[in-house]
Amino acid sequence: MKTLLTEEQLGEGIRRMAGEIKKHYQGRPLTIVGVMIGSIVLLADLIRLLDLPLRVELVQARKNHAGTRPGPLAIDVDLLSGSIQSRDVLLVDDIFDTGRTLWELIPQIDEMGPTSVRSAVLLCKEGRCKVAMKPDFAAFTIPNEFVVGYGLDYRDQYRNLPYLAALEPHEIEDDAKNNPAGNNA
Ligand code: 5GP
Ligand code: MG
Repeated sequence: MKTLLTEEQLGEGIRRMAGEIKKHYQGRPLTIVGVMIGSIVLLADLIRLLDLPLRVELVQARKNHAGTRPGPLAIDVDLLSGSIQSRDVLLVDDIFDTGRTLWELIPQIDEMGPTSVRSAVLLCKEGRCKVAMKPDFAAFTIPNEFVVGYGLDYRDQYRNLPYLAALEPHEIEDDAKNNPAGNNA
């Protein structure tokens, strides 16, 4: 495992992104919708940097995986407890990889009648996008590697690392061979 972004670098990038978000919304009320589970750490840090009238909601998007290989995507918007009708909504996710998660989630959120829907991610993976959109706000662009830490997991481990690390290919492959079941969310 090798460190890709230190705790300090993560903090700087998130402060920069929070500045852009504040500038965009100009003090208007905002509903942040965190995409579980990977966004929990970003969500906690980001909301404390946004001095806007803020509500926080959650949805779950789970890609069933064998290790790092993609599987079907299950989105659960039932976690939303309040109405987002006529609200500005900002979806917050950990990483934009193929883009499928946000691409499938945004129309479901749109159906609930928000004033606007935008998206913010910690990480954008280079050269992987398979959809006709990009997140509106992204703190970092990273190379095409499987990363863990700062909320992101590999087989439910490493979410608690305060920094971002890339797994070495052998760390992924050996594990995937031995444990075919697993998920990333
Ligand atoms: P997308 O739908 O954009 O392909 O993938 C987004 C989701 O896949 C992320 O929210 C995350 O749960 C998972 N994912 C994609 N790339 C990585 C990665 O490098 N590390 C981890 N831990 N999860 C990832
Ligand atoms: Mg996710």
